Amino acid sequence: MKRFLSAILLLPLVSFAQRQVAITLDDAPIMALPGYYTAAQRKATNEKLLQQITLLRTPVSIFINGAHCIIPDNQQLLKKWADNQMITLGSHTLNHPNCADLPIDSFKMEVTINDYIIKAVAKDKPVPYFRFPYNAMGKDSVAQAVRIGYLKEKGYTAVPFTVESSDYMFEQTYQEALKKKDNTKAKAIGEAYIRYTLFSFDYFEKLAREVFGRDIPQVYLCHVNQLNADYYTTLVKALQQRGYQCVSLQQAMQDKAYDTPLYDHRQYGFSWLFRWIPDAAIRKSHLRNSPEPDKELAVFKSL
Ligand SMILES: [Zn+2]
Repeated sequence: MKRFLSAILLLPLVSFAQRQVAITLDDAPIMALPGYYTAAQRKATNEKLLQQITLLRTPVSIFINGAHCIIPDNQQLLKKWADNQMITLGSHTLNHPNCADLPIDSFKMEVTINDYIIKAVAKDKPVPYFRFPYNAMGKDSVAQAVRIGYLKEKGYTAVPFTVESSDYMFEQTYQEALKKKDNTKAKAIGEAYIRYTLFSFDYFEKLAREVFGRDIPQVYLCHVNQLNADYYTTLVKALQQRGYQCVSLQQAMQDKAYDTPLYDHRQYGFSWLFRWIPDAAIRKSHLRNSPEPDKELAVFKSL
């Protein structure tokens, strides 16, 4: 009875708490792998995503690889993103390299040429953000400071993420099912992606409460791909049901949690929530127990 009562008392807190999430899409306007999508697939994916973003009025930040925008078709796609009021633009380098492996001059070239290509299409629309491919900011704290300093000079803020759910891995399995015209399997993979994403949110919400003693606005990292195009509305509705309001990256990053110094300067792509943990032993134990999609995906690989 006591447990039942406390469950009822907790209900309004869960349903009315206004959590915030900024959705961010990397590898715009298409995936980095050449030849992965046909031109028609690229167009359909971009248009379907934009249509839902507009309809649901969810602010989204995209991170652009300019090398793909030299093709006129893709330039047109980028222009559609740039023209949309819900969209904030960010750079993701020209060729999507691991910047930790690049000499500083090559890194600067990646940033400068990408800047030129994006601005040629976006015209006067600002491009305030930058996200490192693979979230690899440099091989150590010095290299990272040099790169982030250069970005600042160019007017860019290097942005973090707090939640991701390996959407690119689900996408790969999803594409395999679609190519075999196995729609039942594709649907099951889409549903598994949403389930695993919510599981990841649950994990990182708990981690945020442990690190900061409260909920923080989350930054969700995923990619421009067909899986997200097919499941964007489902994802947003599921997050809304969890009490989330979709906000801009700017609004999310206004929270003072985002001013926390980094305590881990390795070049791997893990969540900033780990990087913000001062104690190395605690951080490592969290990293060891962080969500892994392998189990969810193994089911589909064995089918
Ligand atoms: Zn990327």
